[in-house]
Amino acid sequence: MNDCVFCKIGSGQIPSRMVLQDEEVFAFEDLNPQAPVHVLVIPKRHVAAMNELQDSALLGRLFHVANLVAQKKGIAASGYRVVANTGKDGGQTVFHLHLHVLGGRQMSWPPG
Ligand code: AMP
Ligand code: ZN
Repeated sequence: MNDCVFCKIGSGQIPSRMVLQDEEVFAFEDLNPQAPVHVLVIPKRHVAAMNELQDSALLGRLFHVANLVAQKKGIAASGYRVVANTGKDGGQTVFHLHLHVLGGRQMSWPPG
């Protein structure tokens, strides 16, 4: 998508602090971290939100990369949270599907 900031990050047109990537998925540091570890995991191709995602293999791949991010950032053992804010009530602000991987502190429940 032409004017999508996460498409541009995934293709390297906009700089980001990459954590890891494979052929289909890109993981990078959130610009405004909400925890000591806050990484976003995105598909390289444009998918607006969870509602639009038909490809279960890609969904599996996003979670697999989230798992690898947790290991790489050293929070796999201590625990972490994976979140996909979806639509208005979900608090989604960037309409290119992303998983937040949050960790390095105790998370609270229920979420706000
Ligand atoms: P959401 O509210 O779930 O749509 O989350 C969007 C996230 O993207 C927020 O946590 C922002 O801090 C983050 N974000 C927006 N623009 C950038 C960017 N250029 N680089 C890294 N993170 C970004
Ligand atoms: Zn996009």
